[in-house]
Amino acid sequence: MRSEHQHRKDICEIGRRLYQKGFVAAADGNISVRMDGGRLLVTPSGKCKGRLDEEDLIVTDDAGRRIYGSWEPSSEIAMHVTAYRERPDVKAVVHAHPPHATGFAVAGVALDRPLISEVVLTLGTIPLAEYGTPSTLEVPAAIEPYIRRHDAILLANHGAMAVGPDVFLAYDRMETLEHFAHIWTVARILGRERPLGEEHVTKLQAIRERAGFEPPTRACLTCPVLDERLGGSAPETVQLTREQLVDLVTDVVRSLEGR
Ligand SMILES: [Zn+2]
Repeated sequence: MRSEHQHRKDICEIGRRLYQKGFVAAADGNISVRMDGGRLLVTPSGKCKGRLDEEDLIVTDDAGRRIYGSWEPSSEIAMHVTAYRERPDVKAVVHAHPPHATGFAVAGVALDRPLISEVVLTLGTIPLAEYGTPSTLEVPAAIEPYIRRHDAILLANHGAMAVGPDVFLAYDRMETLEHFAHIWTVARILGRERPLGEEHVTKLQAIRERAGFEPPTRACLTCPVLDERLGGSAPETVQLTREQLVDLVTDVVRSLEGR
């Protein structure tokens, strides 16, 4: 069990990473953790996430209402509350504006093509939620159709969010999302995108089934692109442990190299 003090340190660490990686500028972005008992620990509105002090964080109830802390909680707290309400497995939410992923969100392009095996295994596809005015209830309404099936979502003309069983894994998913968007951007500059074919995706599916689909990592197989390739036979969601994922990625790389 992690103490509130430890959660405070974790969030400050993730804020520094977001800022150092250029995933946020100035006072952008927000981070929260759902602590034992259901209270949320949330970053403050209007403060740079790269320079947070532990005492800057705010404790709220499960509806995002401040219990204690001197700053105002993030103006996007309703988006976090929606993620926690819809996903009992989620314990942390990270929202940022990573430039490549946000470029796709600005262009209205979802990250939903099976271009990289590791991304198919870890995140499935990354949908694009409709635009919602920041700090209003339009944002939680926009993510609601997607959050049950996805751990990472693009927010149209805004940025991205990622969720996870802890704040480090939620951050990792944000990093994977941005890395994928960066690679996809390079492929677009080169003028070619070669998605994994049906037989490759089918092999991925077979490898996933062999792994047993245990928590905590959730990967979506219900998205149209993958559904089409899997002939609609995919389970609604699959779950893998980190160890299983490492084995899977190794298997997939070998399988693709041997072809
Ligand atoms: Zn934002």
